[in-house]
Amino acid sequence: MMRDHATLPRAGAIERRRRRDSAAATKRAYKHAAMRDCGHRCVYCATSLGYESATLDHVHPLAHGGANAIGNVVAACSRCNLMKGDMLPHEFFVRHPWAGANFIRYARAVHRALKRSARRAVSLAMADTGRWAQPIAA
Ligand SMILES: [Zn+2]
Repeated sequence: MMRDHATLPRAGAIERRRRRDSAAATKRAYKHAAMRDCGHRCVYCATSLGYESATLDHVHPLAHGGANAIGNVVAACSRCNLMKGDMLPHEFFVRHPWAGANFIRYARAVHRALKRSARRAVSLAMADTGRWAQPIAA
């Protein structure tokens, strides 16, 4: 019969592996859900994505306290994901209103507040463009 202390390291290894597997499974589940919700497109540039080429983007970045949860996770191509980096969604959409417009259209399952923020950023960017496009009154 095995002594109790002999089973401890093994139990620890199993527990570690269980946690790692479950984190990977969560990530896979998020990716599948995000791909489905976004119609297998990058939510920022609308390019179509395969499961392998898709990356998961945290709309409100983890680095700024965003949640690793459905509602904050979207499918994006690696180019857009890299371009967005740790920018807050508002900053990113003001800078790249086309990404905001696609996001409003394709990120169907994100939290309402994120969509609201995207709409505000896009109209702000458009208003700015409009202002600078106007001839300056003499
Ligand atoms: Zn993209």
